[in-house]
Amino acid sequence: MRELLARPGHELLDLIEDREVHPYELSLEQARLSHELDSQLDSFTVWNDLESRGPLPYTPQQDGIRRFSQLPYAAKDVFCTSGLQTTAGSRILKGYIPPFNSTLVDLLERSGSYLLGKTNMDEFAMGSSGETCAYGHSRNPWHLDYVPGGSSSGSVSSVAGCQAVMALGTDTGGSVRQPASFCGVVGFRPTYGQLSRYGMVAYSSSCDQAAVFTRCSLDCALAMNTLSQPDPQDSTCHPSSSGDYFEFARREVHWEKLRVGVIREFTDPGRIDAPVLANYRASLDKLAAAGTQIVELDFPLADYCLPAYYIITAAECSSNLARYDGIRYGPASGQDELLARYVETRGAGFGAEVKRRILLGTYVLSKGYQDSYYDRARRLRRDIRDQLLSWFESVDIIATPTSPTLAFPFGARNEDPVRMYIADLCTVFVNLAGTAGISVPNGFGSDTAPDGSTVQLPTGLQLVCAPWSDELLLRVAHNFELLSGWRYTPPQWIAKKLGIQAK
Ligand code: GLN
Repeated sequence: MRELLARPGHELLDLIEDREVHPYELSLEQARLSHELDSQLDSFTVWNDLESRGPLPYTPQQDGIRRFSQLPYAAKDVFCTSGLQTTAGSRILKGYIPPFNSTLVDLLERSGSYLLGKTNMDEFAMGSSGETCAYGHSRNPWHLDYVPGGSSSGSVSSVAGCQAVMALGTDTGGSVRQPASFCGVVGFRPTYGQLSRYGMVAYSSSCDQAAVFTRCSLDCALAMNTLSQPDPQDSTCHPSSSGDYFEFARREVHWEKLRVGVIREFTDPGRIDAPVLANYRASLDKLAAAGTQIVELDFPLADYCLPAYYIITAAECSSNLARYDGIRYGPASGQDELLARYVETRGAGFGAEVKRRILLGTYVLSKGYQDSYYDRARRLRRDIRDQLLSWFESVDIIATPTSPTLAFPFGARNEDPVRMYIADLCTVFVNLAGTAGISVPNGFGSDTAPDGSTVQLPTGLQLVCAPWSDELLLRVAHNFELLSGWRYTPPQWIAKKLGIQAK
């Protein structure tokens, strides 16, 4: 059965429906393989005991819609799981066992899907490499000395490393698309409001969005059919479509009718590294050869995206993280005096990156500075959204590189937070505008590892649509996979464990 575990979810569903595979057996085998691989990948922080929980009940809906169901998946440790520790990668939440499930975990449970465990992540989803996690770090399956990207680091390594068929992540500024590009899988962030945020530990509420990793775009569509439901617990969740993402994504794209926008500033060799740019250009050539009209777009606000993003998210996180005070959440301190209690709990409980952002956020919100920083960032955000909406009057989809660089070795950027922030150069405008984006693998590039050897690492093509056009986005992404002939294959060492052929 092991050889099946590199296949996309929709193919596994076919086998389940044809009764060639039993879903519970499949998930048990997946759990065994995940445990084995985790000694190298470190994707998981907590495991769910599937054996003792037994098979999940599943009643198929009779509407003919295919949904992600009966399959094994992993969840970023930012999603609350009833009875299973949830820490958001932080020390301050160590030992916190939520009494409830996040809405998405509930929906997956009701679809008979098996939660394998919770995955490693940057502390409170702040980071781009997985290295700010309080519990060690996950590794890139393509080279274990390289970061898998972040903040959804364990979720991406679990999907890229055949430890799960799908994984939930969150994407506040790129935390699903950037790791997907670093690890050669698909990462999809839906339009803000398509998926419930209920039960997701908050970082920046106006940018946070649940998102998914899969091994092909069709599986993202499959997941959307399960997850995209209105939720009375989240007033910002009002999905645009109750239709069939999967069926829509499978339809052919008439490339000659599609207009793809290319943002000039994100094709600048001064900003984007050579191997990434080469693969990006090759992808555009494929689209153009198929008849797509490529439209150049100017983005004079490009340099303001990162500052606006880091001001807004810092401001929101300083407020969201106020609840970890040792009284509402976090370990109680023995101090008698209130301020001393806060200082002790928060001083010991938060890591350096989180403290940096809380300080920055408190500063930009403080009297006298609010107008110069926070309000200005909010005005910029509105201008960025207006710019994006005006582009979509003349194009259907925008294509950019997902990340300006390949994955990098552990430790390479920890000394310089600003270099780390640059990893989000091409992704944050999507979050500021509240729209959807997807990263689809588009090749490999070489890097020289610290030991002097040459390493091949994946790159990603980011596709972005107008708000609420998620169905179109998934359809274009799936058709791009067909056009470029890409199909996920695991790294050699993992393929060997599965007894299948690799690249
Ligand atoms: N790297 C970005 C940050 O640290 C994005 C994080 C995310 O999307 N959760 O804010």
